Amino acid sequence: MSSILCLLSVQDGRIKRSSLEAMSHANTLARAEGWSLEAVLLGSKAADLAETAGRHGADRVLVIKDPVFDSHLNAPLLAGLEAVVKAASPRLVVAASTESVKDVLGALAVRCDAAVLPDVASFSVQGERIVCERPVMAAKKLARTESSHPLVFVSVRSGSYEVKEAQGAGTVVDVPFQFDAATLGLTLREIVKSAGDTVDLSEARVVVAAGRGVRDASGKALVDELASITGAAIGASRAVVETGLFPATAQIGQTGKVVSPDLYFAVGISGAVQHTAGMANSRVIVAINKDPDAPIFDLATYGLVGDCFTILPLLNAELKKVMASR
Ligand SMILES: Cc1cc2nc3c(=O)[nH]c(=O)nc-3n(C[C@H](O)[C@H](O)[C@H](O)COP(=O)(O)OP(=O)(O)OC[C@H]3O[C@@H](n4cnc5c(N)ncnc54)[C@H](O)[C@@H]3O)c2cc1C
Repeated sequence: MSSILCLLSVQDGRIKRSSLEAMSHANTLARAEGWSLEAVLLGSKAADLAETAGRHGADRVLVIKDPVFDSHLNAPLLAGLEAVVKAASPRLVVAASTESVKDVLGALAVRCDAAVLPDVASFSVQGERIVCERPVMAAKKLARTESSHPLVFVSVRSGSYEVKEAQGAGTVVDVPFQFDAATLGLTLREIVKSAGDTVDLSEARVVVAAGRGVRDASGKALVDELASITGAAIGASRAVVETGLFPATAQIGQTGKVVSPDLYFAVGISGAVQHTAGMANSRVIVAINKDPDAPIFDLATYGLVGDCFTILPLLNAELKKVMASR
């Protein structure tokens, strides 16, 4: 029987939402095709998360419980994934388009003689072909790409699918693996999070993003307050990253992070295509801009035309009341 193998990324002891989104769709395809669905978990605590994988449709969960993966280094990750893909012989390998997947997917495909369709917004099985849609030209257009190679890897942009629970057997299978950690040229000493990085931007359900209209520290304080009231992660346009008002890790867009929250506040952001390439998948977009013709309003679900220094204090005060009454 053919199978779909889902590579699950883990962060802070949990399977990333973007991995579960991709696996939920893979499960729908596997059931329609009569294929099995398998998941991969790597790391010393891999087996602890097998139940979650089973709860999202995995028939089998292939694990390598080697602590070498806790180092987040590419060399063991590549070797571990190669071992699992070769052991499972799937028809299709699906992964969320995370930073570490982007790092290793090409090399993994070469080692496994696979075709790669990276960073797609949708994927389907059509007879012998795996067919995907891939945002191109700063997400202005969708390109249809397909492969009929016997083994295809796809990486999926976050926010492309809903997470759906579906009971699979979740049978844990240990995959034999050996890696000589002494061969590593790099060592992970410490993971440093930027100050105030309380919510992971690429996984956040609510994002407050600031643009040039936010102007200075007083505007930033209003943005911080809105984020703290709504439990949001803070993002930024490149304009305010370049001025140093926000860190580079907050940049959203073509050359920054891709986010797909349920709610996205765009404060003082014009809506240049290079910015919207990173947030157009957001479910509800609230734009605050003093220019009624700003392109961001073409994308926004709700538009507030006005000065953010006037609107944000009012909005924050009202939202505080709403949150307090919950
Ligand atoms: C190759 C390349 C890659 C790029 N990658 C990225 C990327 O990844 N991410 C990104 O963001 N950009 C990127 N850019 C830059 C992008 O083209 C825009 O220049 C940038 O997004 C503009 O940021 P902004 O909207 O904050 O600023 P602006 O375009 O200057 O817009 C500021 C907006 O704030 C409004 N405003 C001003 N004052 C107020 C106020 N008091 N209250 C309310 N509204 C106000 C204005 O009306 C305006 O609409 C890239 C550019 C290139 C060439």
